[in-house]
Amino acid sequence: MPRLPMDEVLIAGEWRRGRGTPIETVDPATGQVLTTVHAASAEDVDEAARAGAHAAADPAWRDLPAHLRARVLHRIADLIERDADELSALQTADTGKSRTETRALVHSAAGTFRYTAAALETAEDVLTPARGPYVTMSVHEPIGVIGAITPWNSPIASDAQKLAPALAAGNAVLLKPAEWTPLMALALGRIITEAGLPAGLLSVLPGLGSVIGDAIVRHPAVGKVTFTGGTNTGRTIAYAAADKVMPVSLELGGKSPTVVFEDANLEQALAGVMFGIFSSSGQSCIAGSRLFVARSRYEEFVGELVARTAKLRLGPGTDPATQVAPMVHHRHRDSVAGYVDLAREEGARVLCGGAVPDGEEYRDGAYYLPTVLDGLPNTARVCQEEIFGPVLVALPFDDEDDLVAQANDSVYGLACGLWTRDHRTAWRVARRIDAGTVWINTYKQFSISTPFGGTKDSGIGREKGRDGIRAYQRQKSLYWATDNAPLPWALG
Ligand code: NAD
Repeated sequence: MPRLPMDEVLIAGEWRRGRGTPIETVDPATGQVLTTVHAASAEDVDEAARAGAHAAADPAWRDLPAHLRARVLHRIADLIERDADELSALQTADTGKSRTETRALVHSAAGTFRYTAAALETAEDVLTPARGPYVTMSVHEPIGVIGAITPWNSPIASDAQKLAPALAAGNAVLLKPAEWTPLMALALGRIITEAGLPAGLLSVLPGLGSVIGDAIVRHPAVGKVTFTGGTNTGRTIAYAAADKVMPVSLELGGKSPTVVFEDANLEQALAGVMFGIFSSSGQSCIAGSRLFVARSRYEEFVGELVARTAKLRLGPGTDPATQVAPMVHHRHRDSVAGYVDLAREEGARVLCGGAVPDGEEYRDGAYYLPTVLDGLPNTARVCQEEIFGPVLVALPFDDEDDLVAQANDSVYGLACGLWTRDHRTAWRVARRIDAGTVWINTYKQFSISTPFGGTKDSGIGREKGRDGIRAYQRQKSLYWATDNAPLPWALG
C-alpha cells in the first residue's frame, strides 16, 4: 500500500480527523476496505470557509505578483512528479483504474499546474478604447472562496483542473472529492501544503455530497462553485446557486455519438471507437457510447468490432496487460448491469458481453464484460441515458441529415467523434453537431491548452485554456479622468 497518510482531512490549514460520518474506501479489484477516512462535517465546512475567506483577503496571496504565485504552482507540479509513482499506485487502489491510466492522470495533473503557472505569468489586463476624457481599463480580481466539487472517475486530474486556475486567480478553495474516491484529493492536499501554499487557502473536505457538498454550495462565504459530476447533481447545485445569485460552472454527463462514415479508414475507426468506449471501463464523461455507422458498412464494421471487443483483456489495474479494469465500485457495476437488462427487455441484441465475467480471478472485483448492443432505436433508454460503463449501443444511419438528426437527438452535448477521409464531410458535420468537443479521426484526446466543456445538459462554462483562470475572477472596470475640468452637468 502507498504510504501517504490517508485518514485525516485538511481543514483551514490543519490536518486532523473530520467531525463527520467516517467513510470507507474500497479497492474495487478486491472488494477490500483500503482505509476509513474521518470525513468532514458541516461545522468543518463552516470553519474551512471562514478561514478561506480570511486567507483569500490577506494580501500575502491576493496581492502577490503573478510570477511569484506561479512559483508555488511550479513547486506543486514538481512534487506531483516526484511522487508520481506512489500517487499512481494510490489511485489504482482507490479507483480500480489501470496503472497506465493513473500514471497518465498524475502527469496530466502536474502539466495542469505548469500550464496554469505559465498562463498566470502571461495573463494581461486590458486598456479599452477611451470614449471620453478618461483612460478606461478592465482588470481581473479574485472571487474569494471557491467550492470545487469533483467526481470519482478521474481524481487528481479533475481536482487539478479546478485547483490550479482557482488558486492562480488568487482565491482560497474548498475541495470536496467524491465519497467513493477521497484519497487522491487528500494526497494532493499534502503536496500543496508541502509546496508552501499559505495555510487556510486550501481545505480538502471529503464527505457525503448531500451534506458536505451541499454545505459548501450554500455557505455564504463561497462565491463560486465549480462542479464536475452528474447532470442531476449539477441541476441541484444550480438551483442553490440561483438563490445566492452565485456563478457556477458545471461539467456534467454525456451520451456522445461516434460516427463511422462510409469512406472511413476502418482500422483507425475500430481502434478509436473501442478506445472511446472501453478505456476507463467506459467510466468517462466523454465515452463514445452511441455508435452510428453508415448503413452500407454497418454489418462489416460492427461484426469486426464485436470480434475485437470479445478479445479485450480484463484484469486488475495493477497488471500491465489489462485493457479493461474493474469498475469503481460494486454498486456502480450493478447499475451498469441493470441497464443491459433493461436493453434486453426493450428488445436489444446483445452482440457481446452483457454479463459479469466468469472465473475465480474476477470473483471479488467489480468487473463487467465490455458489451455491444444493437437493434434498438435512438429513443430507447440505453441510447438516451448515461450508463457510465463499458456498454456501446450501435445504430445504422442512412445519410448526413439522418445522422445529424439522430446524433443531436439527446439531452446531452458533450463530445462527438467523426471517422471519415473527406475533410468536407468532417467540417460540415462537426459544425452541425451539438457538442462541446468534436474529434475528427481521433477520440478522447485531451490538452490543457484547449478549452473543454459541454452544451445542453452536459454543462455550463469551459475549463482549461489560457482563459481558464478567468473563470475564477471578477472583472472590474476603472475610469481615470485625464483632465481637471468638473463634469459639465454640475455647472450652473
Ligand atoms: P455525482 O454527481 O454523483 O457526484 C459528483 C460530486 O458531487 C461528488 O463529490 C458528490 O459527493 C457531490 N454531490 C452529490 N450530491 C451533491 C449535492 N446535493 N450538493 C453538492 N455536491 C453533491 O457524480 P459521480 O457519480 O461522482 O460522477 C459521475 C458523473 O460525473 C457522470 O455523470 C459523468 O458524466 C460526470 N463527469 C463529467 C465530466 C465532465 O467534464 N463533463 C467529467 C467527469 C465526470
